[in-house]
Amino acid sequence: MQILLVGAGLSGAVIARRLAEAGHDCHVIDQRDHIGGNCHTRRDGETGVMMHVYGPHIFHTDDQQVWDYVNRFAAFQPFRNRVKTTVGGKVYSLPINLLTINQFFGKAMRPDEAREFIDGLADHSITTPQSFEEQALRFVGADLYRAFFKGYTEKQWGCAPSELPAAILKRLPLRFDYDDNYFSHRFQGMPRDGYTPMIAAILDHPRITIDLSTPYSPDMAEQADHVFWSGPLDGYFDFQLGRLGYRTLDFERFTHDGDYQGCAVMNYGDREVPYTRITEHKHFSPWEQHERSVCYREYSRAAGPEDIPYYPIRLVREKALLQNYQRRAKATQGVTFVGRLGTYRYLDMDVTIREAMDTASLFESCLAKGDPMPAMLTPS
Ligand SMILES: Cc1cc2nc3c(=O)[nH]c(=O)nc-3n(C[C@H](O)[C@H](O)[C@H](O)COP(=O)(O)OP(=O)(O)OC[C@H]3O[C@@H](n4cnc5c(N)ncnc54)[C@H](O)[C@@H]3O)c2cc1C
Repeated sequence: MQILLVGAGLSGAVIARRLAEAGHDCHVIDQRDHIGGNCHTRRDGETGVMMHVYGPHIFHTDDQQVWDYVNRFAAFQPFRNRVKTTVGGKVYSLPINLLTINQFFGKAMRPDEAREFIDGLADHSITTPQSFEEQALRFVGADLYRAFFKGYTEKQWGCAPSELPAAILKRLPLRFDYDDNYFSHRFQGMPRDGYTPMIAAILDHPRITIDLSTPYSPDMAEQADHVFWSGPLDGYFDFQLGRLGYRTLDFERFTHDGDYQGCAVMNYGDREVPYTRITEHKHFSPWEQHERSVCYREYSRAAGPEDIPYYPIRLVREKALLQNYQRRAKATQGVTFVGRLGTYRYLDMDVTIREAMDTASLFESCLAKGDPMPAMLTPS
């Protein structure tokens, strides 16, 4: 079959590779002038540092098949993300762990003591937290909430934590030991030469053709037996029902001689500091040596029509609109919506790859049985 894949990020690349290996001709297009989607990396011309162009990406997964898959296409180096945060003129360790708690309260507690201490600070009058703020207060109490969650969250989401769903905080662990590894997955690492060569290797198959700087137009679908769409869901329908809300990021680049901050990610929790964090990219490739350094100051704001959509907002308004678009999508034939933009969800890379592999397998089995390929595979 002739397959058109819109988007040369991980979703498009993994589906194309699977279907090419199954004997289909896959044509991949992307409106950008490079492959890799938001995982795109390139070497900085001035300093030689490997840059994560659309923000830092650390690979982490518990999925053995996904880990084997990425290792087939790239050599991985061990990497642990150890994030720090500056609050009130002091530096603390994240995620909140025993060191953070002891430093913040000026104590030397052991795990059980700290657990009891935090439990004493938690607001037990909140039985069923309705918002991020209530969840945080119930979880860690007012002092840690104000220092480590409130300001950062306001900057990141552009609204009060009392307006955000409680579920967001479930992703932020609180630890009563000195483990400061940001992720707890079994497999963690970084492709030695960056993500773009890895995605180039996935796309490197005689049945795959690629056109860059090529935005989708509906006539392209006429020449294809099936389309996999990893662009924005609302964009496929020309935003006819309205725009799904996203946060976008502005990266302010600056260079430094030597080591600017001594770590890859430094958050800034204070509301008065306008950026959310500074990322120093050479620390994402600690096996390389660079005299000079490149950093991004990262600012978050609501995405306008011309901005890059980064984080789906998924509040009440967006969820209602999403359901309307999903209804439209399910009534559409010959196209399947995939990936973070096509399904309007935040997806880590490992989940993106897993879903792309499963989507390609389902396509093959639908073909074998003569069933139609669904337009949407994921629940809202
Ligand atoms: C700031 C940030 C940090 C992240 N950090 C991590 C991390 O540390 N670890 C992790 O596992 N995951 C991370 N992620 C998630 C990761 O970026 C995604 O899992 C991954 O990019 C999803 O791939 P995708 O192919 O679905 O989407 P994308 O990478 O967005 O690819 C979609 C592609 O479609 C193209 N496209 C869109 N519309 C059209 C059109 N009309 N015509 C042609 N082409 C079009 C776009 O140009 C884009 O290249 C992060 C995400 C963000 C936003």
